[in-house]
Amino acid sequence: MGLNIVVCVKNVPSTLTVDVGPDGQPKTAGLVCAMNAFDEYAVEEAVRIKERVPGSTVTALTLGPEADQAVLRDALSRGCDAAAHVCGPEFAGSDVFATSKALAAAIRKLSAQKPVHLALFGKNSNDGNSGAVGGMVAAWLDWPGVLSVKKVESVDESSAVLWRMMEDGVDVVKVSLPAAVGTVKEINEPRIPSLKGKMAAKKAVIPKWTASDLGLKPEEVGLAGSKTKVARCTHPPARGAGTRVEGASSAEKAAKLVDILVERKLI
Ligand SMILES: Cc1cc2nc3c(=O)[nH]c(=O)nc-3n(C[C@H](O)[C@H](O)[C@H](O)COP(=O)(O)OP(=O)(O)OC[C@H]3O[C@@H](n4cnc5c(N)ncnc54)[C@H](O)[C@@H]3O)c2cc1C
Repeated sequence: MGLNIVVCVKNVPSTLTVDVGPDGQPKTAGLVCAMNAFDEYAVEEAVRIKERVPGSTVTALTLGPEADQAVLRDALSRGCDAAAHVCGPEFAGSDVFATSKALAAAIRKLSAQKPVHLALFGKNSNDGNSGAVGGMVAAWLDWPGVLSVKKVESVDESSAVLWRMMEDGVDVVKVSLPAAVGTVKEINEPRIPSLKGKMAAKKAVIPKWTASDLGLKPEEVGLAGSKTKVARCTHPPARGAGTRVEGASSAEKAAKLVDILVERKLI
């Protein structure tokens, strides 16, 4: 039978400096975007599991505006078999609560077609950066969720043994499927999309799902369905120039450094 795997990918600005408008909101219009860096590892792991378990398929899933279809074609060129796009003006301004609810509804819709065994996520996005979506999707689906996974030791249709990174080492966790799994960059080395993959991705037909396609009311998604609203974004204060500690020897430099730290009440 094989595994039915879903991997959630986000299209994020591929620049770290985003201007903020007079309304205090990030000016995202016209920004060059690309697949969230951590999602490349999630996609790669999904494809590797597919290659390990015969008969498995991988579906890439994103929530975002029309232009975000590009991230799904990127995922297809990296070895995903299908893709689905949650898209519509009603999703604008979705916070983590609303985003995870919509993604969970999309996974439920895919599962109605063929039971989904695994939903994979990146560690966090480069823009919202909460790292919460994977765990919240697990909660909405009432599935176990394991985050910070650096190795999928074994996996079959009913369970998986996962290595979860902890500060002081690794937890080896056995989890029954279906489950949501958040990956970290230590899990693999993403492959470069092949030309054949890119060609196939160009031709792929990607279904677009609105809130009503997912059985969600407009007030359950977007800003209306969100629990939080970004009141204002500001750039972090510019860092002052560093201080160069001069000295004839490292001992002299260390002594001067301590003086500076004491003077600045840092120690
Ligand atoms: C212009 C703009 C306005 C925003 N306004 C608000 C706001 O008003 N209030 C607020 O709370 N947040 C707001 N956000 C943040 C937005 O809610 C979050 O970016 C979004 O909910 C996802 O959360 P995250 O980025 O923290 O994802 P994380 O939890 O950091 O992502 C973890 C993983 O979840 C998956 N994932 C995350 N998002 C998606 C997605 N869209 N599609 C598919 N997979 C996904 C990926 O695998 C990702 O690696 C705004 C973001 C933008 C860009």
